[in-house]
Amino acid sequence: MNTQKRKTLKQETLIKGIGLHSGKEVNLRLIPAEANTGLVFIHNVKNKKSIIPVSLNYVVDTSNAVTLGDGFRIVQTVEHLLAALHTRGISDLILEIDSSEIPILDGSSKIFIEVIDSIGTKEFEEEIEPIKIQNPIWVVDGEKYMVILPSETLKVTYHIDFKHPLLKGQSLTIDLNEEILAKEILPARTFGFLRDVEALQARGLALGGSLDNAIVLTEDGYLNQDLRFENECIRHKVLDLIGDLSIIGRPIVGHIIASKAGHALDVSMGKLIMSKITGDEISKFKSKRIHDFLKRKTSLVG
Ligand SMILES: [Zn+2]
Repeated sequence: MNTQKRKTLKQETLIKGIGLHSGKEVNLRLIPAEANTGLVFIHNVKNKKSIIPVSLNYVVDTSNAVTLGDGFRIVQTVEHLLAALHTRGISDLILEIDSSEIPILDGSSKIFIEVIDSIGTKEFEEEIEPIKIQNPIWVVDGEKYMVILPSETLKVTYHIDFKHPLLKGQSLTIDLNEEILAKEILPARTFGFLRDVEALQARGLALGGSLDNAIVLTEDGYLNQDLRFENECIRHKVLDLIGDLSIIGRPIVGHIIASKAGHALDVSMGKLIMSKITGDEISKFKSKRIHDFLKRKTSLVG
């Protein structure tokens, strides 16, 4: 993979949906930005605005999804949106949201990429250099691990081993070029176990969760009748991995081998890559640039 041009969207668009936890309607506005702005959330509720850059420095929670926050406001479940933006190489965009959750839509990245493709992207002269893994790099947490080996292209080998007859000891190796990502990975929906969903809902969480936005597993089968892929769940794990690692802000070239990984391990790997290879790229210059850009877009700065 060679250097690629930075990109934004051709025009502004609005995505509406419900939040997985709140069950309430969310408006997410995608607004074209200048080159080198990066991906930046504007959390805008009742005209109180917070700027939350998509950066590993702003990851505040990884328990069920990736949550970004600035210490005051949060944006939850960013990974499915980020996986779609990453697949189309969108590096610069303002994401204005009137809630603390990204709309869950169908539980995958399918609708996000359809929206992006219907609008089209605008390419800048500025470039992004992919991170080519030259030496093996790994993170381990008990039985969970992730290794990235040098490779000429991006490739993933994923292994899951849930206590469930359909998700025991499953592996997937897949080359991840843009087309395969869009067709084979992004449509894979999130999944959960019925027993966990009931427990979450009893605590007032996952109130927006339904068979319309998740694969639900019973003790020995699926509640849904319409799987998109026979191994849809492991594909979704790959989707999450791609979305999570995209927070680094540069594409990775290497062979990622992940076993029983999840958001926490994905983010640890991202931080390791940043500290070992790229260094911390969130400079004062960059945040000032974002602020100046937002100032010119007066509707965005309170
Ligand atoms: Zn997910």
